[in-house]
Amino acid sequence: MKDSQATDSKLIKFEELSWKQIDELDKDKTIFFLPISPLEEHGPHLPVGTDILTVRDAATEAIKILSKEKPDLTYVLLPVVPIGYCKFNTDFPGSVSVSGKVVRDIVYSFGSSLGNHGFKFLVICTYHMAIGHLKGIYSAMKKLESEFGIRTCEPWGPYFHNNEMEKREPKLGFDTSKEIHAGFRETSLMKYQYPYLVDESYKNLQNIYRDMNSPRVLGKTFKQLGLKDGYVGSPARADADYGRWFFNETVNVFVRSALDLYEGKKPPELPGFIKMAMKTLFWQ
Ligand SMILES: [Zn+2]
Repeated sequence: MKDSQATDSKLIKFEELSWKQIDELDKDKTIFFLPISPLEEHGPHLPVGTDILTVRDAATEAIKILSKEKPDLTYVLLPVVPIGYCKFNTDFPGSVSVSGKVVRDIVYSFGSSLGNHGFKFLVICTYHMAIGHLKGIYSAMKKLESEFGIRTCEPWGPYFHNNEMEKREPKLGFDTSKEIHAGFRETSLMKYQYPYLVDESYKNLQNIYRDMNSPRVLGKTFKQLGLKDGYVGSPARADADYGRWFFNETVNVFVRSALDLYEGKKPPELPGFIKMAMKTLFWQ
């Protein structure tokens, strides 16, 4: 307990600093972490903040590890931004969706405020993988890199969309590629991190699958697709041990990406079909 309190007090939170303290940070050696994901329904059994709680906690944990592994750098946690594009499930209460343009403007505002004052590194931590949301983030990153030379990365998109999780996760005996939203993975995650926020009814939820990459689902909301409870996958299978693996994997992806960003290594890219979809998709 004492130990974790000591580490906690070392965590630098942006909102607790004065402009003078921010100005005194070493511009070439400070990495900022921006957790951003929408409030969004996650089935009848998980909180609407599932994504924001996860990215905030994973970014916090990543900073703790980095502070030990590479103590010559400074790591600053920006406040979690509970914003994202999730129009497809706004037919449930609790989902708050903004346009991808708003996502772009918010990420750009954080980045340009830092870039304007000479800072060079920004890690954008999101758990929300909708194309309209990523389009906002990646447009902002491009603009920030060209206007301020600030180096940015968004670690989870390339990891998720290149199916790295399926390649690396412990063998489970069922097809996890169909776990899309509030299913086995996210329910496991919350059972590990916030068991008291998981409604026991998850044990009785039936497996529901939809191919969310199919053109037939394009532009449709969850309810229009018959997803009346707002989840896709098999939440009843949830397992806290897998949740621990999944959370730690997220933390490791954030840690590795931050170090690669600092060392100037080229980050993993989103797969071609996602980049193409981001390009062709209109701002919504
Ligand atoms: Zn989620």
